[in-house]
Amino acid sequence: MGVRSGGNTDVRWCPACGGDLNDPQGFVAEYWKAKDRWFLTWCSRCHTTAQVCLPHRITATEPEH
Ligand SMILES: [Zn+2]
Repeated sequence: MGVRSGGNTDVRWCPACGGDLNDPQGFVAEYWKAKDRWFLTWCSRCHTTAQVCLPHRITATEPEH
């Protein structure tokens, strides 16, 4: 598992309030689990800590129609 933090990550906005996570007081750290990219975020505007996943692949069901 690797870790990368700092600006210029692919997760820029707070998933709770939409605040800018590149704000100097915000926090984004990227790490990896297998081929999935995970981001630990903290928003200085709403004080929410969140994890965001950018999955390598998504398997979903298709609703009947
Ligand atoms: Zn926020």
